Amino acid sequence: MQVLKFGGSSVANAENINNVVSIVQQSFTKNKNIIIVLSALGGTTDALLEAAIIASHGDISYKEKLQPIEQRHLTTVKKLIPLDQQSSVLSTVKKRCNEIEDICNGVFLLKELSLRTKDSIISYGELLSSQIFAAKLKSLNIANAWKDARELIITDSEFGSANVDFTKTNQNIQSLFCTLDSSICIIPGFIASDKNGNTTTLGRGGSDYTAAIVAAALSVSVVEIWTDVSGMMTADPRLVSNSKIIHHISYQEAMELSHFGAKVIYPPTLQPVMNKHIPVAIKNTFAPNDAGTLIHSHISKNGSSIRGISSINKLALLSLEGSGMVGIPGFSKRLFEALSNEKINVILITQSSSEHSLCVGIEEANADKAKEVIDKTFATEIEIKKVEPLIVEKGLAIVALVGDNMKNHPGISGKMFGAIGRNGVNVRAIAQGSSERNISAVIATRDVKKAINVLHEEFFETTYKQVNLFISGTGNVGSKLLAQLQQQQRHLQDHLRIQLRVTGIANSKKMLFNDRGIDLCKWKELLQNADEMKMQQLISIIQKQNLRNSVFIDVTANDDVAGSYAHYLQKSISVVACNKIACSSSYEYYKKLKDIAREFNSLFLFETNVGAGLPVIGTLNDLLRSGDRVNRIEAVLSGTLNFVFNNYTGEKSFAKVVKQAQEEGYTEPDPRLDLSGIDVMRKIMILARETGEKLEMEDISNNSFMPESCMKGDVENFYNEMEKHEGHFKEIYKEAEAKNCKLKFVASYHNSPLGDGGVASVGLQHIQLQHDFYRLYGKDNAVLFYTNRYTEQPLVVKGAGAGAEVTASGVFADIIRAAAPSN
Ligand code: ADP
Ligand code: ASP
Ligand code: MG
Repeated sequence: MQVLKFGGSSVANAENINNVVSIVQQSFTKNKNIIIVLSALGGTTDALLEAAIIASHGDISYKEKLQPIEQRHLTTVKKLIPLDQQSSVLSTVKKRCNEIEDICNGVFLLKELSLRTKDSIISYGELLSSQIFAAKLKSLNIANAWKDARELIITDSEFGSANVDFTKTNQNIQSLFCTLDSSICIIPGFIASDKNGNTTTLGRGGSDYTAAIVAAALSVSVVEIWTDVSGMMTADPRLVSNSKIIHHISYQEAMELSHFGAKVIYPPTLQPVMNKHIPVAIKNTFAPNDAGTLIHSHISKNGSSIRGISSINKLALLSLEGSGMVGIPGFSKRLFEALSNEKINVILITQSSSEHSLCVGIEEANADKAKEVIDKTFATEIEIKKVEPLIVEKGLAIVALVGDNMKNHPGISGKMFGAIGRNGVNVRAIAQGSSERNISAVIATRDVKKAINVLHEEFFETTYKQVNLFISGTGNVGSKLLAQLQQQQRHLQDHLRIQLRVTGIANSKKMLFNDRGIDLCKWKELLQNADEMKMQQLISIIQKQNLRNSVFIDVTANDDVAGSYAHYLQKSISVVACNKIACSSSYEYYKKLKDIAREFNSLFLFETNVGAGLPVIGTLNDLLRSGDRVNRIEAVLSGTLNFVFNNYTGEKSFAKVVKQAQEEGYTEPDPRLDLSGIDVMRKIMILARETGEKLEMEDISNNSFMPESCMKGDVENFYNEMEKHEGHFKEIYKEAEAKNCKLKFVASYHNSPLGDGGVASVGLQHIQLQHDFYRLYGKDNAVLFYTNRYTEQPLVVKGAGAGAEVTASGVFADIIRAAAPSN
């Protein structure tokens, strides 16, 4: 004998009901007896409830709510059953719908809706669906008996979520099946009656429970729960797109998952079947050949220690605190008694070992009531200040990891809290059952989706880690970066197991978002048609998107963007900056960003601030982290100036060579920053700061070679003035040439041997043949680190130090560093 239960979506319309019919027919070929438990047509219970509530407000429009319910059932009958057999079913449906209307009329007149009346109204959903289904089978000549569950399942009078009297219920079910002459029996799920014959219900989602009660009473071989997913999954598929089917799961694990929000099974369902070791199969009505999930007792101990992750929303946390609680027995008893007298269910409990506070998670809807009764219970203690008035926090949720095997695997909670912590999810309370089958964390509701996805990735996804990027700036470097990202996506997924998604792009005019990832083949067109760029809005959208493993990338040269990093870092969004403004503004701001990053577990990376794609800052940090001391840095840090002095021989004017550098994309957006030496000052300052030096721009001496008049006015004036001073530049060149030297704009930093403040300077130098800088071609940069370990010969980092392509690849490398710190 088998029990098959079909949920609301499985019987939502005639087409779906036809699927159910074929599943029943299949099952009937293999089983002599089957019992079918049916839910209401999907959405009917909610629709009935809504009509009843409207009626109870004295609002006549409840009739407009009832009308489509009737229509839907009549249409279903007409589509399912041949015309010549329809009339009796249609009149049954009509009669039931009239009864619903009669009760609602009463509710409307009295403006009163008791839990008892509510139950009686919503019971019609299951009554209708099951009678329609019985008629459908009959129309196919499949003999069956329809049995009203209210005559079988007897409960107390706790309307809305009644408790089953198993002794009476089992007797009723067993005696019915002894006398039943049909092989197929159809029962409405969800509904029951109390000992006075009033209709009760078993709680929302309770049709699963009906199936389990019947199955246990008759000791059947298996219960099949047919629904709209192919089994119980590692996480709610609506929240985690990569969730996977769990093929085998123990009763305890399934129970724990359902208690913690996995809606696929109504929580009380498993108790009766578990006692009798009856396996429960979860199957998909819309993909009947999928294996589904089998819930049973013989689960191998091998494999993953975590079986699934689930969550409960709308939680409130109650905290009772006070010095008067320490060491005095009875406080928790009184607290729980007060809650239980009000029938407030406790979902989670934690107590600090100091006994100074007691923390209880309950449904948010009961929070105000709880506050009232608990403050009343402890009124005396509150008055004499032994206990504080109850603290209530709303807007919370629980995420729970579930698995029988957790107890054999240390380190799971570390991994759990590490993963969500890295993503900036704040944990308000933690509970672990003594069975070690469940670790629960209370977090803000807005973080649930992110936390569940992060945990799913951490515990289940061996495939790839998803990283979400927001790119600010679509100029030279930005567009090269987007092209590189597009090219490399596949490679990263295959080799580093990272899935990079660009979830936002902005430039000075427009901003574009798509939290599923922007199609990088057409970002230009999409951005053109996107919303107008507004900085405040951009910050709040990125914060609200609240995506896991997020990185904000600044490839602009904009002050406002540089001023916005803290908003991201403190939400645990890492920042990769190509923009030098943040690191080269005040030391205080630079330090603040570093501190925030450390505090919120985010990364602030800016390798391309010095030497474009060259690993300068990375190398410096490696030296420092491994305990070396930097004594001196000598560097050619301006790709632009190097290009200019390598190409200027006095033939083509200096101004023209500078123009060429700008046109080839080597200069800063404003070339005066390069020519004035300011850009080089910024770079040496950043390097010095990375060694721990508190340096400001005004501390750096700049021996500029530019005539003052060039730097006044705009860029056009800058070029004009340089033309006018061609003689000056020629002079500089000739002087060096006469000594067989090359001109290099060199930055130096000398650390103080006493540790009392180093000095930095920049300026044009004559470089002789034997010097490391002599053979620096094109736009190359070179950095020489003289350290305690590299004394005679410096550690040299040398290579192309400007250009959109290499800069973009440096930004890319930082993105990978931020995305996967362990790679
Ligand atoms: P039915 O109407 O068949 O009883 P429900 O809507 O009650 O179906 O339950 C099935 C739904 O449960 C699925 O559509 C899915 O969205 C949701 N769900 C939540 N958590 C899980 C999970 N861990 N595994 C499978 N489904 C889940
Ligand atoms: N129809 C009821 C509900 O929507 C019971 C069920 O579907 O299991 O809650
Ligand atoms: Mg359900």
